[in-house]
Amino acid sequence: MTNQGTQQKQTAETLSHMACAHCDLIQKLPAMQVGEVARCIRCNNVLYRKQKNSLNRALAFAITGLILFVISNLFPLLSLKAMGLTQEGTLLSTSISLFQAERPFLSLIILLTTIIFPLTTLLGTIYVLMQVKTNRINRYTAPLFRFLRSTDAWGMLEIFMLAILVAVVKLGDLADVIFGISLYAFCLLILSLSFLSYSLNPHDVWNRLRDIKGCQI
Ligand SMILES: [Zn+2]
Repeated sequence: MTNQGTQQKQTAETLSHMACAHCDLIQKLPAMQVGEVARCIRCNNVLYRKQKNSLNRALAFAITGLILFVISNLFPLLSLKAMGLTQEGTLLSTSISLFQAERPFLSLIILLTTIIFPLTTLLGTIYVLMQVKTNRINRYTAPLFRFLRSTDAWGMLEIFMLAILVAVVKLGDLADVIFGISLYAFCLLILSLSFLSYSLNPHDVWNRLRDIKGCQI
């Protein structure tokens, strides 16, 4: 049997059983074509979505997200003009301002959910996908990917965006609100992370990690 044939056989075997993330029922997956979706027989939750080039697409969205993240943090999100004074704010300065206003816990939450976790997700995902694609995994690849999956829900850019919109509406009568280029990049970053989450099928990554010789999962 050729190496390719062996790899396909291993992939088929590792994909043959899967636990439902919603009800924990372990069930056997059928052979699937690109575009097909397997659902849990008990709760109808999506078990596996067979996508073409899912890892390449996820990598493209992660790199795009990283570029947008850098732009979002380089320039002010908003500028407020009132009585001849102008106040600008970036993601980081928001956290620092809260800390200086003696709200350290809120400052830490903002820092973690809008900067640390999204940046960790983007850098970690790019690192793991690049290693998988080039077959250069090491003993840290699988633990890192497991860590990324566990912290996936902690990025809360959407909620921060909602808070910005509420603030803009409330401050609209008191000051001139000017949207910065970072705000547009921030909106696109939220979209990129959503597309990344949709494109990245963790089972594809786990199967590739299992197929590559020497990986301990
Ligand atoms: Zn289920």
